[in-house]
Amino acid sequence: MTQDFRRYKRQLAIDGWGKETQERLSKAHAFIAGAGGLGCPVAMTLALAGVGHLTICDTDTVDITNLNRQFLHNEKSIGLEKTVSAQKALEAINSEISIKTVQYKITHENIESLLGNSHIIIDCLDNFEARYALNRAALKKNIPLVHGAVWGMEGRITVFHSPETPCLECMFPNAPSTGETPVMGGVTSAVGSMQAIEAIRFLAGQDMSLKGRMLIMDFAAMKFQELEIWPDPECPACSTSGR
Ligand SMILES: [Zn+2]
Repeated sequence: MTQDFRRYKRQLAIDGWGKETQERLSKAHAFIAGAGGLGCPVAMTLALAGVGHLTICDTDTVDITNLNRQFLHNEKSIGLEKTVSAQKALEAINSEISIKTVQYKITHENIESLLGNSHIIIDCLDNFEARYALNRAALKKNIPLVHGAVWGMEGRITVFHSPETPCLECMFPNAPSTGETPVMGGVTSAVGSMQAIEAIRFLAGQDMSLKGRMLIMDFAAMKFQELEIWPDPECPACSTSGR
């Protein structure tokens, strides 16, 4: 599909961007795991920026309790599959990109075929079982995994791209217990937008800023902390001795 570059006029003017970068983005493929609180701002931001190929994976349907944050869905989409609702909203924003939807629960067995030729994985999930499957697949395909999470007024983000960085299992060798997460829309929007910016920079051929760093954000106090993070030499997923 031909691109109308007028749409991207304001980002083409960013230092180091230009038409070549925009064309590169139009050929890029991002896998978005989850079409909920984080998945909505991630998918929206990638669509706005002109990332040419998006795969969105989610098994849920839209519920009224999603509507305080999941802005690609609306009252009319209650009961619809989230992927379908998100696709409809995104196509109305940018018809020049291709959006594939998949409604499978992500497992170690199916993740590689779900990923296809994706250049990056963006983790917008809320459970660690599927996150571990994303992590192993990212390591195997040597593509980055942009991690984001929220709890209440707090958010966390980093990028895993071993061997330059630790992997998810270095940081979280055991799945933290999860229940229903308290959350408000502004927090998921902020964290998801930051995940998307990291992804866009990588897909545009630029360096990712969060390698080896985890940002911990307290949106109530509006204070951000930064942790340096290193690979675990004993990690069963990414260490050469463990693999
Ligand atoms: Zn690891």
